[in-house]
Amino acid sequence: ATPLSIMVGTGEGARAGILIRSAEALETAHKLDTVVLDKTGTITAGRPALTDVRATAAIAGDDLLALVAAAEADSEHPLASAIVAGARDRGLTPAAASGFDSVTGGGVRATVDGHAVLVGTRRLLGDAGVDTGALDPIAADLSTEGKTPVLVAVDGRPAGVLAVADTVKADSTAAIAALHRLGLDVVMITGDNPRTAAAIARQVGIRRVLAEVLPEHKADEIRRLQAEGRRVGMVGDGINDAPALARADIGLAIGTGTDVAIEAADITLISGSLAGVVTAIRLSRATMRNIR
Ligand code: ADP
Ligand code: MG
Repeated sequence: ATPLSIMVGTGEGARAGILIRSAEALETAHKLDTVVLDKTGTITAGRPALTDVRATAAIAGDDLLALVAAAEADSEHPLASAIVAGARDRGLTPAAASGFDSVTGGGVRATVDGHAVLVGTRRLLGDAGVDTGALDPIAADLSTEGKTPVLVAVDGRPAGVLAVADTVKADSTAAIAALHRLGLDVVMITGDNPRTAAAIARQVGIRRVLAEVLPEHKADEIRRLQAEGRRVGMVGDGINDAPALARADIGLAIGTGTDVAIEAADITLISGSLAGVVTAIRLSRATMRNIR
């Protein structure tokens, strides 16, 4: 494209709240045929709230929640904040925890009131030798509702399941429909479990889902799609999205997300709305049309 058409395109983008880092990004965006969307914080608002506390017969619900909130107090994960806030809203005062440890994409462990508390995915508990048989059906039900189940073991025994749910951003569904109309394939990527991911995907009209992807594997999934001959745009907000944003043909960061994601991306969507992805691709198409 000519320097003038690039300037016009970049300026138009800026007015629409889309910061395009380079001429190359503006020139490449129209070639995308696949857009990969992170779930939490990208399709959804990223402000999850505690919705359910299902304790086993061995423990009272409030005691379970207080133990988990104590274990999550030092975690920076949005799920942890939701659980800590949920406990506070119910008037609970969590005890102090010691020996806090977090497993990326898995959960946390800590000692609370002399009890070993393990909180997170089915896989995390399973890897620690906990028999999750009593928790699995509860977790499955909650996932089908689009909630993220958080399994809990106390002293190696299953103690219950909490659920945390996030809301889909108001304009996500419309933006995804618009991407489909532009002829793009839309894929969801998430560290969350397949059932929850599928429920959210169904809600927003996405047919292809990559779930239970560990943070360090998100970039590999982008590479795999590129190996299929696809030109891939990746949209994300989190620290764990940064390598995938850098790997993609075009990385688009949610402006309300983390600085690390913004630095790794070619384009920043200031408002955080997925409508910006549609606008960026249209802008690139218009820019490239002008020069032919
Ligand atoms: P996402 O892509 O949804 O942001 P992450 O890779 O951060 O997912 O985490 C994947 C999954 O690991 C979460 O859906 C959750 O089940 C579990 N998990 C991660 N951190 C925590 C935590 N602090 N407490 C409980 N569960 C957690
Ligand atoms: Mg995210």
